Amino acid sequence: MDADPPDLDCFRLVDEPYYTPVGNEIALFEAAYRAQVPLMLKGPTGCGKTRFVEHMAWRLQRPLITIACHEDMTAADLVGRYLLDAQGTVWRDGPLTQAVRGGAICYLDEIVEARQDTTVVIHPLTDERRVLPLDKRNEVVAAPSGFFLVISYNPGYQSAVKDLKESTKQRFAAIDFTYAAAAREADIVAREAGIDAGLAEKLVRIAAASRNLGHRALEEGASTRTLIRAGKLIARGIGAAEACDMAIVAPLTDDADTRGALRSVVAACL
Ligand code: ADP
Repeated sequence: MDADPPDLDCFRLVDEPYYTPVGNEIALFEAAYRAQVPLMLKGPTGCGKTRFVEHMAWRLQRPLITIACHEDMTAADLVGRYLLDAQGTVWRDGPLTQAVRGGAICYLDEIVEARQDTTVVIHPLTDERRVLPLDKRNEVVAAPSGFFLVISYNPGYQSAVKDLKESTKQRFAAIDFTYAAAAREADIVAREAGIDAGLAEKLVRIAAASRNLGHRALEEGASTRTLIRAGKLIARGIGAAEACDMAIVAPLTDDADTRGALRSVVAACL
């Protein structure tokens, strides 16, 4: 027996999530959505991937179900499981099944964190079948046209132990993400943190320098997110250098030399 589609109204975005395009990613996403080609967003942390998906869900008027992937996540956490309650054993759909039934956009954030035996449950949703088999329930859920699968993937964290299977990767079309160009990134930081343009430009200069420090010093430079955090602290009255220390330098590294180098960059840019 087919279950009724779940009511996913609480997953709809009513207000437009602010998003400044970096290239033609809006058109690419829309085309992939219409063509039902699952999408992989590749790029460093904090560069706007999640905000972009929120913006697109709003634009396409689809509910959005986001799942933060982690290594203890099982296939049952995604598809659902039988639970015991007062009435006996009842089936509870997992978030992926809810998204499929309700024709939502399902965003699997940091997919590479999930174990490969978990990730394979999405395979039948990513080819022409567009179905989700629920083996325990003896049910196959067909995805309605509104269902769309998006995953994020940070190539910087790639390692031999933690990577997507080749057979998973090739089921997705990919859009490369990077930080916005300096002037645009400053606009984003100013707006999101509520600070003036001049200060935002300085923060962006700090980020640019940190991104140039190279892989040996830092795995990744300061993201747009860290700049916004620093800006928000400054807007609350914290001194600029201290705010940068808290939001940028300390989270990025524990290495004393690298912290020293970053603090010099901050002092030179402020
Ligand atoms: P990711 O998912 O890539 O880790 P997020 O989407 O969470 O990063 O981005 C971090 C923050 O940076 C967002 O909350 C948003 O405030 C801001 N941001 C980054 N890029 C953009 C952009 N192009 N337009 C608007 N906001 C952005």
